[in-house]
Amino acid sequence: MSVGVAVLGSTGSIGRSTLQVLSRQRERFRVVALTAHSNGDLLAAQAKEWQPAFVGLVNGGARDSGLGIRKGPDCLVDAATHPDVRIVVNGIVGAAGLEATLAALRAGKRVALANKETLVMAGELVAQAAREGGGEIVPVDSEHSAVLQCVAGRRPTELARLILTASGGPFRTWERERASRATVAEALKHPTWSMGKKITVDSATLVNKALEVIEAHFLFDVEYDRVDVVIHPQSVIHGFAEFVDGSVLAQVGFPTMELPILYALTHPDRVPDQGVRRFDPVAAGALTFEALQPERFPAYVVGREAARVGGMAPARFNAANEVAVQLFLEERIPFGRIAEIIERVVAADTHHGDATSLADVVAADAAARRLAHGVLISVHEFGHFIVAKLVGIQVLRFSLGFGRPLLEWRRGETEYWIAWIPLGGYVKMAGLEEEGMVGELEGGKADAAIDPKRAFDKQPLWARMAVILAGVTMNVLFAFAVYVGLYAVAGVPERATTQIDTVRVDLLTPGTQALATLQRGDRILRIDGASVTTWEDIIRRFVGSKGETRFEIAGRPQPLTVRLPADTVARLRAFALEPLLPARIGFVIPGEPAARAGLRNGDLVVRAGGDTVRSWSDLLRKLWYSPDRPVELTVVRGDSLVTMTVTPRAETDPDSASVRPKPFGFIGAEGNPPQIKRRLPITTAVRAGASQTAFQTEQVILSVKRFVVGQGKMRDLGGPIMIAQVSGQAARAGLDRFLMIMASISIGLAVLNLLPIPVLDGGHLMFLIAEGIRRRPLSLQLRLRLTQVGMLIVLAIMVLAIGNDVFRLFR
Ligand code: NAD
Ligand code: MG
Repeated sequence: MSVGVAVLGSTGSIGRSTLQVLSRQRERFRVVALTAHSNGDLLAAQAKEWQPAFVGLVNGGARDSGLGIRKGPDCLVDAATHPDVRIVVNGIVGAAGLEATLAALRAGKRVALANKETLVMAGELVAQAAREGGGEIVPVDSEHSAVLQCVAGRRPTELARLILTASGGPFRTWERERASRATVAEALKHPTWSMGKKITVDSATLVNKALEVIEAHFLFDVEYDRVDVVIHPQSVIHGFAEFVDGSVLAQVGFPTMELPILYALTHPDRVPDQGVRRFDPVAAGALTFEALQPERFPAYVVGREAARVGGMAPARFNAANEVAVQLFLEERIPFGRIAEIIERVVAADTHHGDATSLADVVAADAAARRLAHGVLISVHEFGHFIVAKLVGIQVLRFSLGFGRPLLEWRRGETEYWIAWIPLGGYVKMAGLEEEGMVGELEGGKADAAIDPKRAFDKQPLWARMAVILAGVTMNVLFAFAVYVGLYAVAGVPERATTQIDTVRVDLLTPGTQALATLQRGDRILRIDGASVTTWEDIIRRFVGSKGETRFEIAGRPQPLTVRLPADTVARLRAFALEPLLPARIGFVIPGEPAARAGLRNGDLVVRAGGDTVRSWSDLLRKLWYSPDRPVELTVVRGDSLVTMTVTPRAETDPDSASVRPKPFGFIGAEGNPPQIKRRLPITTAVRAGASQTAFQTEQVILSVKRFVVGQGKMRDLGGPIMIAQVSGQAARAGLDRFLMIMASISIGLAVLNLLPIPVLDGGHLMFLIAEGIRRRPLSLQLRLRLTQVGMLIVLAIMVLAIGNDVFRLFR
């Protein structure tokens, strides 16, 4: 029986070479799956020739070629895990290839890997997936194939050093200054290899070689100082392996990817093949070698350094490079900027934001993001499900996850599924089964016979409205439950200080004037005899007391006595005290000025704009009054002092009661005050949960409103990457923070889903309201047309949001 092969990226340079090889090896291999990104025509032609069982187009558009092509990003994993596939050739370019590699390895397949970026991003993860699933990686990259061929059959302890060769690319002999202005056409003129655009640019910067050094480290388990690189302009020797006895083997051949691809399919065997030009030493002529000159290839140097540093640094290096090369290919930056961008991003080190997070997102945070997203959508669908059942609609299926079922059972007329793709879930109701927009994703028709009387459309208006509203209601309830749980079980963080920073005398009422005598550093011990330990204690006491109230201050023999206003709101307004908190930085929002200046979690700010900073309030005030003006900050970081310049951006508060100036400077960093957690009794927790839910809902509505009336800035619209970054950071910061963010995303989803756009629940609701007014439903045609418009709007918003994310990464 021939071996089943999946070719991912079949329309690319590696993919086409692979099919070339396979066309000569038809008795040994057969093509089971093909995928491409957007070249549907070539893909269709390939599918016609090879008749694979599975064909997938990631960016398919609407046109259906009639060949049963699967659309969307999930097709990569589906192809890679197809049961008939034994070998997955991964010829995808860039980070997009990671999931398929992981899935294939977990499913125990061989991955013939050309997609080096993913080893660089997530080498550990990939190795782990291979261990767990029993899969193996065999390199396709010519240098690594060369090394593999030299070391095959040897014990790892016999290997002393690797030497990878590099052609030096088109700018090998150019002055750095001239190369920095090189055009795209010049960069794409590779002297010896014909390859895809991205790797060709990588070869010109020599980033490719840095990626290959990292790739070699993971593939052959050698330390970085035992991987050398030499310039070899003829590209005839692809790699050397030096052994412990001093012997060196090299692998030789005219440049072609077909040999390493074939070897990756047959390793450790060799099979007869006639496709490529036989080697001829005389024709090869003189072979020369030169030392690599680091000053000509700064990006290579940064890459090696990132490799040495390890951790997330290689992923960051790779992500920065992907973004920079993309910009260069679009002629938005000159060639020289590629290295600069990479250098800047990698130097930015561990602070959040920048292009770094692109890799973060995909590699480290994918799980957190999936989980958050999947759970919230399932919760939403569960709402629809439960109410549909309650009002007597025939529910054909409730599925957690999309695609084919992993687990399925049946109770009465309803199928319950747990399906493969953990990105959400859905409910199939009688009468709505044709309206599913995701078609295929919803795993096909249900078994039960449809009872037309119990179809969705036959229900009274109120029942249908209840079903539609139930989804968002569940999202809000979920958030509420999370808040209550956190308050009652994990406890709420309270600021562990009772020391005064400043008193805002402008807020004092006639009865509270005496508070003006408090000075910075004064500590409140007791209010009305009850001792206070957190700032929140003070607020609660202040707001909870009435009339004459005694403040006992450390070191003062006499308590301060004030008369608090009788009205609660007036008391809240009169709370003029600010806590003394250290100017220590906590959470830094990706892409905002603080992140871009290099401020990090844990930094203690000691000077700002030439003034000493003694507290968080000192820092805030300095920044508030410097919108759009650079402020030099000095921070204590570990044992050293670090200086940086941050330029707060100008913001205005929507509410007029704000204490901030107009406009005020905003840098996008939270403080990190000393905190203690306090658990609330359950009734208080419920009350606090309700008010937090209300507050959060109001916030989302306000920002949507600002957006709609045009005050909101496009920039503030964060898409999936931003959500992922934030939830990823939060997951690292602890479960409670992660849940907190999930709750607020859940509320966000609820509110957004209620926007009156067809395809969203809000749109559906509008149809029902229209029906209520007209006393008969809108025509199906009109609904379909409106739904299409709605899809376009939602897509446009998504594109905008993702664009913003990417913009945020390198601005
Ligand atoms: P290419 O641009 O010619 O082809 C890339 C393929 O990936 C295309 O089929 C495209 O449809 C697919 N693709 C692109 N973006 C995708 C996405 N987001 N989702 C799914 N599919 C997507 O590139 P190439 O030169 O064939 O290189 C592919 C990989 O192989 C790269 O990682 C490269 O570094 C590596 N590589 C290539 C060569 C070579 O000779 N071309 C040599 C060694 C290593
Ligand atoms: Mg290579």
